Parts: sequence; C-alpha cells; structure tokens
Amino acid sequence: MRKYLIIGNWKMNQNRSETAAFLDDFLPLYKKNEDVEVGIAPPFTSIGVCGDKLSESSIFLGAQNCHWEDSGAYTGEISAGMLKECGCSFAIIGHSERRQLFGESDEGVNKRALALLSAGLTPIVCVGETLDEREQGEAFNVVTRQLERGLAGVSPEKLSQVVVAYEPVWAIGTGKTASTAQAQEVHKLIRKVIAKLGGDSISQQTRILYGGSVNDKNAASLLRENDIDGALVGGASLDAQKFASLVGFRV
Ligand code: PEP
Repeated sequence: MRKYLIIGNWKMNQNRSETAAFLDDFLPLYKKNEDVEVGIAPPFTSIGVCGDKLSESSIFLGAQNCHWEDSGAYTGEISAGMLKECGCSFAIIGHSERRQLFGESDEGVNKRALALLSAGLTPIVCVGETLDEREQGEAFNVVTRQLERGLAGVSPEKLSQVVVAYEPVWAIGTGKTASTAQAQEVHKLIRKVIAKLGGDSISQQTRILYGGSVNDKNAASLLRENDIDGALVGGASLDAQKFASLVGFRV
C-alpha cells in the first residue's frame, strides 16, 4: 500500500523568522495521520531553523534543488551530501520554474536524481507539459520524455525510492487545477512508464504526486483517484491553517 505524501514547496518565500512563525502556528494544528506523510521544502537559508522546529515531529525536511557534484568550484550550488548533513531527506528536482527560468534540462534532472539517490535522499522529480504542449496533444509525449530522460540509468531498486510529481505547467500558481480525470490519466501514464523502466512491482510502489493549485478545498477529490498518491503544494503551503487543513484531508 502506498502512503499518501503531501509536500509543501515554499519556493523563495519564508525567511528564517517567517519560517519559525509559520511552524509555531502550524505544528499545534497538525494532526498526524498514519496514512499520510508530510514534508516541507523551505528555501536553503531556512532549512536550519525549519529542521530545528521539525525535530520533534514526523514531518520530513527537504530542499528545492541540489547540484549533482559532491563538492568543488560550483559557485552558488549545494550538494546532496550537504543537504543530508542539514537533515534533509528529499529534494525537489526539475520543477518547471527551474526548467523555464534557469534553463534546467532533463539531463540535469537525471544527474541530480542519481546524486540524490546515491546520497540516500529521495528525489521528487517534477514533470509536466505547458499549455501549448497540451493543446497540441503532446502532453503524454512530453511527460514520457521527461521521465525516460530524467530517470535514465536509475536501477529498479533505486527507482522504488523515487517520487514523481506531475505538475502541468499551466496549473502552477494559476488557480487552474487539472480536472481529476485529466490528472488521473497522466498519473496512469506515469505509472506505465515507471513499469517500463523498473517493472510492475516497482511502479505499484512508486508515489506519484499531483501539483498545480492544490488547496484544502480540492485536495480530497484529486487524492481519491487511483493513481494520485499525494500532492506537491506551492501557494497553499504558505498558510499554516490552510496547509494544516489540506494535510488533514479525508478521501
Ligand atoms: C508548485 O510550485 O509546485 C505548485 C504546485 O504551486 P501552486 O500550488 O501554487 O500551484
């Protein structure tokens, strides 16, 4: 049985004091549910304070990116090992904002995924089509290509530790959520691609999150779908009350 996983992606929001204030509000509201795992990915500078505040809780700490090398002359970059040392257990990679604004490629996503896995961290690999690509009937091809390239060379054993996030670019931060049927059909495709890469049993264990304007009102209907195992949440993860109510969803 796959456990639900809800990840808050704070993007470039919540400085150290805002992070502390958010968690002082959120943690008393958070009711642990054995069927739902929760993680928060603050900006790099807030990882320390976030980790301290989460140390007594079961909530995972993660990052929003990483570099694939262990160390060296890579100004501005942070390695998977460095994240691990700070208490991170996962990192989001290949987010569409990284791809669109910072030129990240499927090959870069692949190097990051391999580096995270060899450091023992969970890569949350984001894939998703733009509105243009969807309108041209290319959504399945784009997502398949991003997965095949992003996960190239990942052994079936390691593949079971990967989380995939389907985030249609047109639904991120726009208030336009994919319909449950639109999301489910792409999640089903993703599970098929994972089965091709690592076999049926691995693909049945792989968690596939949906991301794109998920909030406390629409989460339950999305999470009711067979192949939707959780959510990657941007905007709604910045409000302690909304995020607490979202992670407390009931399908
Ligand atoms: C995201 O950034 O991963 C995201 C899904 O954002 P939002 O929930 O704000 O659409």
